[in-house]
Amino acid sequence: MKILVVNAGSSSLKYQLIDMEGEKVIAKGLVERIGMPQPGHQKQTVGGKVYEVSGVMIENHVQATEMMLKALQDPEKGAIRSMVEIGAVGHRVLHGGTKFSESVIVNDKVKDAIRECIPLGPLHNPANLMGIEACEKVMPETPQVAVFDTAFHQTMPPKAYMYGVPKKYFTQYGVRKYGFHGTSHRYVSKRVCEFLGISPMGQRIIICHLGNGSSLSAVVDGKCVDTSMGLTPLDGLLMGTRCGTLDPAVVQFIANNENMTVDEVLNMMNKQSGLLGIGGKSNDMRDVDAAADNYDGDAMLARDMLVYGIQKYIGSYAAAMHGVDMIVFTAGIGENNAALRERVMTGMEWLGAKLSHARNASCADGKATECVISTDDSKVKILVIPTNEEIMIARDTLELVTK
Ligand code: ADP
Repeated sequence: MKILVVNAGSSSLKYQLIDMEGEKVIAKGLVERIGMPQPGHQKQTVGGKVYEVSGVMIENHVQATEMMLKALQDPEKGAIRSMVEIGAVGHRVLHGGTKFSESVIVNDKVKDAIRECIPLGPLHNPANLMGIEACEKVMPETPQVAVFDTAFHQTMPPKAYMYGVPKKYFTQYGVRKYGFHGTSHRYVSKRVCEFLGISPMGQRIIICHLGNGSSLSAVVDGKCVDTSMGLTPLDGLLMGTRCGTLDPAVVQFIANNENMTVDEVLNMMNKQSGLLGIGGKSNDMRDVDAAADNYDGDAMLARDMLVYGIQKYIGSYAAAMHGVDMIVFTAGIGENNAALRERVMTGMEWLGAKLSHARNASCADGKATECVISTDDSKVKILVIPTNEEIMIARDTLELVTK
């Protein structure tokens, strides 16, 4: 069966068509600038063939979905002859609140529940819903599945997910830690055990998902027990443009001094902070590294803050799990930036984690493959496992529609 994986953002639609026989990606595409005043852009690759459209106004997600299906069925540069070849569609949905701890087949009740979670994911959930509804409209006979970014973290115990504010805010509004990147944490924590040929039972794993958005998770017996992102993805590590954890009083302090609203401060903390806000030049770790290697003080500070933050989380999760058996790096920075991994693991020998410099260095710069990067005598195994959220979404979708 061929499964279409859709990741609908507020102004973009990313997709992959995966042939589940051999789990091969047969088409990859992106439709950008949906609903924007300027013309949009579409690019799709199928093998070496590139299909591109630019200069057309893309009014909404229905139009973007039609463009996606047209490109997929293009006689020269497409991947399928007809839409009926698509067995099902799997959608990435940001926030499932406490309603979803697993992926589900989309029906009216599921859509209502995703809608009810909009206050928790105000930017993404409406876009995810638009993606689902656009597919329903354009391909009404094809089953749709929703896969939630929050679902994997639903196994956290209350002591990990509750915040120390009066409990009524939890009961009334669901204010608590939810965590994100769950599909990635689930894929990597499962895959690392398959790769080593061991059972997840008895394993205490720390997953470091380091990308433009970053989060860590602590996984015991294959289940998440803690994670660094919170009610929203703003919490936790310093990220590309997000500040990560700070004293909440900073919000009030800046709002009062700069005459800003809370929303404006939060916007600044989401979009102008992190590596960009401290380093001053870019949210991309490659730029920060280049500047820091050139002794730019702000870039060096941004990098130091990121490394220090990761080390502190690793230490606290090791304490929370009463030990650690594996530390796994994934996502853009985790998979490609060997120097960053080296910085993080320096001084971690107290934990029983010893990096092999040679193994680490050979797993870098776009050549990331699954590999062990610790020494043979390291008590804690350190690994790189490239994440694959799309395959996880496709597998969930296949499983649900063939049940
Ligand atoms: P997102 O959260 O948007 O999915 P990614 O997982 O793609 O982000 O990660 C983006 C980060 O990964 C950037 O900071 C970038 O510097 C880093 N990165 C991506 N590819 C490479 C590479 N080949 N070498 C070094 N760093 C990389």
